[in-house]
Amino acid sequence: MIEFKDVGLVYPNGTEGLKNINVKINDGEFVVIVGLSGAGKSTFIRSINRLVTPTTGELILDDENILKYSGNKLRMLRTKTGMIFQNYNLVKRSNVFKNVLAGRLGHTGTIRSIFNQYKKEDVALAYESLHRVNIAEKIYNRADELSGGQQQRVSIARVLTQQPKYILADEPVASLDPPTSHQVMTYLKKINREDKITTIVNLHFIDMAMEYADRIIGMRAGEVVFDGPVSEVSEST
Ligand code: ADP
Ligand code: ADP
Repeated sequence: MIEFKDVGLVYPNGTEGLKNINVKINDGEFVVIVGLSGAGKSTFIRSINRLVTPTTGELILDDENILKYSGNKLRMLRTKTGMIFQNYNLVKRSNVFKNVLAGRLGHTGTIRSIFNQYKKEDVALAYESLHRVNIAEKIYNRADELSGGQQQRVSIARVLTQQPKYILADEPVASLDPPTSHQVMTYLKKINREDKITTIVNLHFIDMAMEYADRIIGMRAGEVVFDGPVSEVSEST
């Protein structure tokens, strides 16, 4: 479970990224955060794996205030929270398989991974993950030889290989055309249902959010201005 308690974040230049956020996200939910560019969606999501650090309040993840984390605790948090980015964040010159195995980094350790000393189970998990997003035939292609949609599927496979408890997807379809966007959202939803991974996705299209979310959080200027099930959206907005 994730709970934001009076969370605020002021960037060093004085910009208020988050203002007084109170939100509780239960295990297994598929939450979509919507809002215009600059609304604070990315800041919200990045607070959860501490890519950014809120300046006030408490952020409780599985009974611990993660705002106090450093060192090893922070590494464990980032292994537990799998991140998906708008621009895929793959190592472009590496092949698909190596990119997906990188999902084991947090479990295996950097030194072992440098020497490609992944365990048999890690390799098996990487294969399985690639099959689950239907991209196994590209296993020995370089990442930069793939289309955007294929690269995003590889990044989903990497997150699956990581076996996180939470998936945080920051505008995962913003660079993709509509059919490819739907394909990516369908995979994210399927994984949420099958593996019961709590999933938080940022989107800037409300239609797409309505189609996939269990619950929608609307943000504007760093604040939560709507929080409810999809069924409540049309009446109040
Ligand atoms: P996006 O809208 O895709 O999140 P942005 O262009 O807003 O991308 O941000 C790109 C990067 O620049 C991010 O790392 C973000 O934290 C940083 N950034 C955004 N706005 C500012 C700002 N006003 N000052 C400094 N850094 C910023
Ligand atoms: P969204 O993801 O909804 O586009 P962001 O969380 O990226 O919104 O940004 C929220 C606000 O914080 C914006 O005003 C943005 O310019 C600002 N911001 C984001 N990153 C930084 C940063 N590193 N430094 C300063 N301001 C930032």
